[in-house]
Order: sequence, then C-alpha cells, then structure tokens
Amino acid sequence: MKLVIATSNTGKIAEFKAYLRDSSLELYSLADFPDMPEIIENGTTFMENALIKARTVMSCTGTAALADDSGLEADALDGRPGVMSARFAPTTNARNAKLLELMKDVADEKRTARFVCSLAFVRPDGFEWTTTGICEGRITREPSGNKGFGYDPVFYYDPMNATFADIAQEVKNKISHRGQALKEFKEAIKKCRITENSKR
Ligand code: IMP
Repeated sequence: MKLVIATSNTGKIAEFKAYLRDSSLELYSLADFPDMPEIIENGTTFMENALIKARTVMSCTGTAALADDSGLEADALDGRPGVMSARFAPTTNARNAKLLELMKDVADEKRTARFVCSLAFVRPDGFEWTTTGICEGRITREPSGNKGFGYDPVFYYDPMNATFADIAQEVKNKISHRGQALKEFKEAIKKCRITENSKR
C-alpha cells in the first residue's frame, strides 16, 4: 500500500521512515508532492490539526495519508504553548526563552509539562484511525543539552535524570510522545491490518 507522510519536515520524514521501514508500505512524503496547497492548521487541538493535515493530503493525492501534530503543554500556563508550540515565538531560542521567562516564578513542584503527539491515518475509502502519545516531564529553569530540537533543552525527563536534549536521539525516539504514537500505529498495522483494507 502507498502511504504519504503528510509533512515536508526532513527530520520528521526520516524519523517516520525509520519507524516504518519494515512495514512493507510504499512510503512517500510531501517532498514528493511539491504542488500540494498550503494546509491551514486552524484546529484547536493536536488531533484536529492532525486530521486536517491527513484528510487534505489524502484528498489531494488520492492516497492513504499519515499526519502528526505535536507540541508542549505546561500546566502552570494552562496548557500553553499547546497547539501554538511552533508559533509561540519566531525562533527556537526565543520560544524556549519565552517559556522560561513566563515560568520564572513557578515553584519546582508546579513545573509539570508534557509533550503530546496526535497521529491520524486516513484512507481513500474514508476509514480513519487516530492515536495520541504523551510523554510527561518538567520544565527546567535553564536550557541544557545540544541534541534534539525545539523544546528539548527545557524538557526534563525524570526517568533519565536529563533533558531530552541531553539524551541520544535513538533513546529519545523510543520513549517520546511521537515514538509512542508511531508504535501504536505499527501495532495497528500488524494486529488490525489497517493498511490492507483499502482499494489503493
Ligand atoms: P508540528 O507538530 O510540526 O506542528 O510542530 C510542533 C512544535 O512542537 C515543534 O515546532 C516544536 O517546537 C514542538 N515539538 C514537538 N515535538 C517536539 C519534540 O520532540 N521535542 C521538542 N519540541 C517538540
């Protein structure tokens, strides 16, 4: 079965392809569809945005599509940056600095946060499958580590006593919100055969 990964982000394409390499799916991404119209992610939840992306790409390509939408929720900020994670400030450093500044007076025990990844798979016959992966952690008081991307340097993961930017990418991918959601997808392919019942 052909599957379009509904992103043109090269890091995400590589991560998705690595996860799905032994799945017998014929994998494409938006890099293979340069004429795709811009997708307006105006949902109010990660799941709404994942579904918007997967449905748009499926209807424009006529092929099954897999999309994710992810971000960081800080409890002390009522779930912000949430669906605005990528647009919270203009650059990665500015986003992390803004988050730390907004939380500078928040006590240690109230710095709880989570990375969330919603994944949506949509087939041309109308079948839809979704899941959400969550990884719990805490917001640090200053950035640490130079691996990973985005909010990784300010996200402290207690089981490893480190931020996501301190740990190796392969380790992070196994425990992360996106890793959990993709694991569920692989299990659904295997157990429920969700990629086998489509005409395409
Ligand atoms: P999107 O899912 O491509 O819309 O991106 C969501 C935004 O959330 C990214 O730009 C990052 O800022 C942030 N984000 C999502 N997942 C991670 C992660 O694993 N580490 C760090 N930041 C992340």
